[in-house]
Amino acid sequence: MSLLSVSDLYVEYETAAGPARAVSGVSLELEPGEFLAIVGESGCGKSTLLFAIAQLLTYPARVVGGSVHFDGVDLTSLRPEELRQHRWRDFSVVMQSAMNALNPTLSIGAQLVDVCRAHTDWDERRIAERSAEVLAMVSIDAAHLKSYPFQLSGGMRQRAMIAMALLLEPRLVIMDEPTSALDVVAQRSLMRQIQALRERLGFSVLFVTHDMSVVSHFSDRLAVMYAGEVVELGATRQVFDRPQHPYSHGLMDAFPSLLGAPKPLTGIAGNPPSLVDPPAGCQFAPRCAQAMDVCTLVRPELVQEDGRAVRCHLIHPVDRP
Ligand code: SF4
Repeated sequence: MSLLSVSDLYVEYETAAGPARAVSGVSLELEPGEFLAIVGESGCGKSTLLFAIAQLLTYPARVVGGSVHFDGVDLTSLRPEELRQHRWRDFSVVMQSAMNALNPTLSIGAQLVDVCRAHTDWDERRIAERSAEVLAMVSIDAAHLKSYPFQLSGGMRQRAMIAMALLLEPRLVIMDEPTSALDVVAQRSLMRQIQALRERLGFSVLFVTHDMSVVSHFSDRLAVMYAGEVVELGATRQVFDRPQHPYSHGLMDAFPSLLGAPKPLTGIAGNPPSLVDPPAGCQFAPRCAQAMDVCTLVRPELVQEDGRAVRCHLIHPVDRP
């Protein structure tokens, strides 16, 4: 059984213009110890998907269909106090900006104590030992238990968030763009640290980013999202080396490669479609240089073949209606 199983998940935001479908029929499986990255440009629904999986959505967003099973338990059916039993212990979340996620008025040590008190019956000595231990795991000296978030660098704050996420040894750590506020060197160092911890402790990672290059050397599988849908899903190297969906191609061409001859960087012209009034056929059709007549008429399905799933009529042709 998969550790995490997301099945046909739909999320909508209530807006003045009507419901905006931010996540549309997403299904994913995550195995124990696996690192799955979800990539796509801003507004593609990737962070909403993570929040829906972690059951952290608040009004005006809500899950309107599908299920999220963690170790066989449907998280969407749990009451808040039941969910509390799973948070931190079974899965934890690392937010995009530690400065916003950490409490600025409490020291790092006090925030670790709060989590332990809320979710364990540990005594003070055990809490102190574990707090120092998790900070050491992310290469932060225990002296910083007394530091406040503003006294740490951006990279240290993100590492402190990861230490907090690992406090109770969860089996899944959900990460929402944890490196986006860091410079390239700090990004690389943080990704290496996450990888080393994952190998040592065996937890799974679900990682959202708009920057494919961040995860190219670290994730096992890659899901590419566009307009709330998964358009391509496969082994990271496979998707990187031989992207099949035209949108995945576009993402690849939008960042420089360290290997091979230099190539001009090209963006993807146009904008994502309206989520309130989406087009009838392929959501990417208005921006796709390879669009055919059938693309504006028939919504492509995500078709799985040889371990790779792609949502495109070029790869999996259908008859025109
Ligand atoms: Fe482009 Fe058509 Fe494939 Fe959509 S289905 S990505 S429009 S070729």
